[in-house]
Amino acid sequence: MLKEALNFFFPIVCVICKTECNSSICTSCYRTMIQITSETFCIVCAKKLRFKDLRCIECSSIFHYFHDSKSLFLYEKATREIVKQLKFYRNTYVAKIMAVLIVKKFRQYIENYDIIIPVPSSKQQIFKRSFNPASLLAMHISKKCNVKYVCNFLTKKHHTRSQHTIKNKETRLQNIRGSFAVRKSPFFGSKVLIIDDVITTGATIHECAKSLYNHVSSIGILSFARVLL
Ligand SMILES: [Zn+2]
Ligand SMILES: [Zn+2]
Repeated sequence: MLKEALNFFFPIVCVICKTECNSSICTSCYRTMIQITSETFCIVCAKKLRFKDLRCIECSSIFHYFHDSKSLFLYEKATREIVKQLKFYRNTYVAKIMAVLIVKKFRQYIENYDIIIPVPSSKQQIFKRSFNPASLLAMHISKKCNVKYVCNFLTKKHHTRSQHTIKNKETRLQNIRGSFAVRKSPFFGSKVLIIDDVITTGATIHECAKSLYNHVSSIGILSFARVLL
């Protein structure tokens, strides 16, 4: 009754197309969201694979600091709108919707890890937006799974130019190089899952994993969406 009354005053609208419906994402928008499966995309760079494998030929020959990586959706129209709602319109409840979808697909993968950490934001970024989108997402995922959320294990030492303003992967790597630091923590040696909202070229994730590599026993990556290269 209370839910019905609330729905009368605050009807549920789809976060993507804004039409009234009885869930946070309407059926027609959900149908357009493309799930990534490890059989069809490289787990490192998300390049489309012609044969059933984990990594593309290029990624198989390069050393990576993380041991596994998963993303739920391709970053395109609908998923871009969801992320935009969270990051640019500060609709923080969207993080909960994203976490529900992530946990539904990846609970087993998540619960393999000892702790969940977000890709850190600089103090300047947090001040500007008032929150770190990756932290919010990581907190919601942690609440739904039996894995502890730890903030400030990995921190951003200084502000860097926003990665989405740089197209080239090499320049992105240079921009972010050396910008993360690991804090002394009781979680040294643990299995760590790093959460991000969107992975574009993977430069930020690469740098996070590189910073953690000598301090933890294994590193996994999990993101809501991934840009197809
Ligand atoms: Zn919709
Ligand atoms: Zn690849």
